[in-house]
Amino acid sequence: MMKKLFFPACVLLLLFSSCSRKQYVENELLLSTICTITTFDDRDHEVSLEAFDLIAHYEKVFSRYDEDGELYGVNKNAYDHPVVVSDELFGILESARAYTEATDGAFNYAIGPLVSLWGIGTADARIPSDEEIASVLGLLDWNDIVLDENERSVLFLTEGMEIDLGGIAKGWISRAVASFLEERGVGRAIVNLGGNVYVIGRKSAGEDWTIGLQDPSSDRGGYFTTVRVSDCAVVTSGAYERFIEDGEGRRYSHILSSSSGRPVETDLSSVSIISPDAAKADAYATACFALGLERAVELCRAEDLEAVFLTTDGRCIRLP
Ligand code: ADP
Ligand code: MG
Repeated sequence: MMKKLFFPACVLLLLFSSCSRKQYVENELLLSTICTITTFDDRDHEVSLEAFDLIAHYEKVFSRYDEDGELYGVNKNAYDHPVVVSDELFGILESARAYTEATDGAFNYAIGPLVSLWGIGTADARIPSDEEIASVLGLLDWNDIVLDENERSVLFLTEGMEIDLGGIAKGWISRAVASFLEERGVGRAIVNLGGNVYVIGRKSAGEDWTIGLQDPSSDRGGYFTTVRVSDCAVVTSGAYERFIEDGEGRRYSHILSSSSGRPVETDLSSVSIISPDAAKADAYATACFALGLERAVELCRAEDLEAVFLTTDGRCIRLP
């Protein structure tokens, strides 16, 4: 099957004010987006080049579209029999299930059939009929996915179910890349997988990194606020470049509601979650965008998550 590529705006702009030091910026198109690793000396730069192989490896494991990949095999066979999976896939599935339950399905790892139906961000994007939508709503119940910890296996109780890790994999992988770099002695670096940023270390002794959060409504590069972080993920979900428009110019986002079967209608244009747990930040950014400001604020408060929301009417709200 064809792999679809997207070119989202650099969701987060890195500010290197007064930074005249050496800097290496390496880009590769992976995970259907632009993946960038920034390092600051020759040795770290050499190490960073190896990290792209790791991203490619995990892309294969977690992709729904790669016929040789592990998740593909799960989606194809888990209704017929329990499928035993690798530790890494089982680990992300357990996290995905936990976030699905904690957000009551605003983030739903069982959303695959609906994502396929709309195809937003792919060459097959289209607005399906009500009948088509109704026909997949029964396939999105996350309680029908059985994860067996002892066997490390996955079983679907309903035929036609499909797991989609698109809302969590980039965050998870950004942390895996950071761990790889740290193990090789890299003490300062910035990993950015299409808006899923993980910063290693600090900008300098006593000074955090400054990350700019891009305004989805402005031209590329414009940002509406900044956050200061060290050893932490900053993950942004929003109404950037993946959407489709209908005949009347209405825009539909690529984040879908498993109750309505349609793209979410939200009063948020962007959500950024700041947390050392990058996978959680990714899943919760997706969930918060879907929930809208009021319920997203409740969720982040309950979980003690640091967050920045931009509403469609231009208000910026920061938590805590
Ligand atoms: P991006 O991929 O642009 O960084 P997100 O992290 O918000 O954005 O993830 C969006 C992706 O997650 C979609 O492309 C789709 O694969 C999947 N997805 C869509 N709606 C949901 C949802 N309600 N819950 C979980 N995953 C979703
Ligand atoms: Mg996400």
